[in-house]
Amino acid sequence: MTPDLLTARLVRKQCLSTSAQCFHLDFVLDGREDFVFTPGQFVSVVAQDAGAKQQMRAYSIASAPRGNRFALCLNRVEDGFFSNRLADMQPGDTMRIQKPLGYFTLREPLTDSILIATGTGIAPMRGFVQWLFPSDGPDRSAGHGIWLIYGTRHATELYYRDEFEAAAARHANFHYLPTLSRAAAEWSGLRGYVQEHVVRVLAERGAGLQQPAPAPEQATPAAGGSFDIQAYVCGLSPMINAVRERLKELGWNRKQIITERYD
Ligand SMILES: Cc1cc2nc3c(=O)[nH]c(=O)nc-3n(C[C@H](O)[C@H](O)[C@H](O)COP(=O)(O)OP(=O)(O)OC[C@H]3O[C@@H](n4cnc5c(N)ncnc54)[C@H](O)[C@@H]3O)c2cc1C
Repeated sequence: MTPDLLTARLVRKQCLSTSAQCFHLDFVLDGREDFVFTPGQFVSVVAQDAGAKQQMRAYSIASAPRGNRFALCLNRVEDGFFSNRLADMQPGDTMRIQKPLGYFTLREPLTDSILIATGTGIAPMRGFVQWLFPSDGPDRSAGHGIWLIYGTRHATELYYRDEFEAAAARHANFHYLPTLSRAAAEWSGLRGYVQEHVVRVLAERGAGLQQPAPAPEQATPAAGGSFDIQAYVCGLSPMINAVRERLKELGWNRKQIITERYD
C-alpha cells in the first residue's frame, strides 16, 4: 500500500554547477504550517514512468527544518529517470513525496563529529550544519568540534561553499575542509581524497583537547559503548568504503561510523 503522499511545490531553483549539472531546489508544502523531519533524513519522490509504472527515488533533505519548506540538492545522472525529471522542474511545478524517513541523523548525545561527503552527498551535511549553527538562532553544537571534509574534483563543484565558509567564520568549533582531487594550480587548499585528511583532523583535535594529545590512532577509544567522536559519511559506495577502511585502520569501532549510500 502506498503511504499518504504530500505535494511539494518548487519555489526556487539554482544551478550550483553548470559542468556537473547540479541544482539546488527549494520547495514549499502548501496548506501546511510545518514539515517535520530530523536533519539528515531523506524524502522519497514518487512518479509514474512512461509505462505507467510507479517509480520512487530517495533524495536527502539539504536543509534544516524551517516551517513548511525544505531543499534538495541533486545532479543529473545520464539517462536517469528521476534526476533529470527533477532537474527540469521550474518554479511553480509540483512533485509528490512520501514523508521524511531515514537514520542518517546526528546521534544523541552529540559528540565531536567529522562530516565527510563528496558531490551531492553534501545535501544532508548542509542540513546538519544549518541545524547546529543556525544563522538566526542559538548554536546547538554545545562547543563540540565539527569538521566538514568535502571532496570534489574541481573548485566549481564545492556546493554551498559560501555558506560553509560563513559558518566557519562565525563559529571557531566548525571547521570547513574542502579538498579537490583535480585541483587547478592556483588552488591553495587541500588536495586529494577525503579519506586522506581524516588523520589531520584527529591530530588537530588532539592538539586542542585539554588532556595530553593522544596519537591519532588512539584518539577515539570506545568506552562503555559510547564514543567521544563520530563520523557521518555520505556519497557513493567507493568513497564510503575507503573512509570506513581508513577509520578502521585508525582503530575506530564500526558503530562510530554512520553512513548514507546514494548507490
Ligand atoms: C538515501 C538516499 C539519498 C539520496 N540522496 C540524493 C541526493 O540528495 N542527491 C542526489 O543527487 N542523489 C541522491 N540519491 C540518489 C538518487 O536516489 C538517485 O539514485 C539518482 O538521482 C539517480 O536516479 P535516476 O532516476 O535519475 O537514475 P536511474 O534511472 O535510477 O539510473 C540511471 C543510471 O544511473 C546510474 N545511477 C543511479 N544512481 C546514480 C548516482 N547517484 N550517481 C551516478 N549514477 C547513478 C544507474 O546505475 C543507472 O545506470 C540518494 C539515494 C539514496 C538511497
